[in-house]
Amino acid sequence: MTDRFTGSFTQQEPIPEAGIEAALAVLRHGRLHRYNVADGELGETALLEQEFASQTGAKYCLAVASGGYAMATAMRAVGVQPGDAVLTNAFTLAPVPGSIAALGARPIFVGVTEDLTIDLEDLAAKVHLAKVLLLSHMRGHLCDMDRLMQICDAAGVLVIEDCAHTMGAAWNGIASGRQGIVGCYSCQTYKHVNSGEGGLLVTDDAEIAAKAIMLSGSYMLFERHLAAPPQDVFDQIKYETPNISGRMDNLRAAILRPQLQGLDKQVARWNERYRQLESGLRDIPGLTMIERPAEETYVGSSIQFLLLDWSADAVQQVLARCAARGVELKWFGASEPAGFTSRYDSWRYADSEPMPASDRVLAGIVDMRVPLTFSLDDCDLITRIIRSEVGAVFQTHA
Ligand SMILES: *Cc1c(COP(=O)(O)O)cnc(C)c1O
Repeated sequence: MTDRFTGSFTQQEPIPEAGIEAALAVLRHGRLHRYNVADGELGETALLEQEFASQTGAKYCLAVASGGYAMATAMRAVGVQPGDAVLTNAFTLAPVPGSIAALGARPIFVGVTEDLTIDLEDLAAKVHLAKVLLLSHMRGHLCDMDRLMQICDAAGVLVIEDCAHTMGAAWNGIASGRQGIVGCYSCQTYKHVNSGEGGLLVTDDAEIAAKAIMLSGSYMLFERHLAAPPQDVFDQIKYETPNISGRMDNLRAAILRPQLQGLDKQVARWNERYRQLESGLRDIPGLTMIERPAEETYVGSSIQFLLLDWSADAVQQVLARCAARGVELKWFGASEPAGFTSRYDSWRYADSEPMPASDRVLAGIVDMRVPLTFSLDDCDLITRIIRSEVGAVFQTHA
């Protein structure tokens, strides 16, 4: 009855051997800077961009230093100016409003529904307040993207997608990141591919791509890109676009290329674990599962459930009791930001209006990482522990 889980919620798998070999080759030749290439050589970074563009079906791709940098660069490239309002999710992680603050712009938060997606009614009510929506597919949940694009297109609002948790996901068969004007991805250790740090952005818009490449710090070496627009597009923007260094390097790109090639296989493995956890968490009194819509192809690299309308004290008891048995859960309702979790009203540099309906949802969101180092048996043990601890607390509080 008191079995304990001893695995690690933060331990990812090793880098594939092909990535290690490619990284060693880069270390041995020493040309780590993306534009430092031998005569006729195609650098790892340029190849990574070419391959990711083709994988997502995008015309253009740029690899950068982080996911946060990709989002800030996308906003700069579409013309967000200091002081401008940018719509974004109330339920997201700190680098998202942080990237808006990096431009001196102001986030306007849009609420979250019980499906953990952006509240489209709230979006429709606020869409006239800004020219850009930085849409965070938080924890991998995709909203009704067709409806979202209708709302934004009708208002002339550009959508930049934060796909930090949806690399490999899709809505109605369209890859996440391909419905907005720009899609941004993170290659940080806890995301779907791991180079420690890193980011990617994709777009079909030639001018945005050229500006993003200049912004990232290409100097005038943009002809060394393989997923960039033609030279004449750069001629129109190269004098007005500042260099705000944030390049990817060849070492990280070398690590990433084999991982992107293996992404589909990893997605299948994540979803095997997700489904095991999901079935183990069904029918627990007081616990609400998040049902995934049929249009959504998701990547189950994390799982969420709601303890809706529970008191803060009861939620904290569940977390403490699970933690005592080795199960690390995160809570998005905590009043103090902790670790990776925080709330829209934790970010005091950004004004926010109270959002009671979203607060109710946030107060119930419990989140768990699903590293691929977990076995299906691990998943069963974890859900047994959650079931018994949620049950114990629910009985005494209900
Ligand atoms: C990790 C993350 C980012 C930013 O990625 P970094 O590469 O760490 O800058 C953006 N949005 C969300 C939701 C994230 O989880």
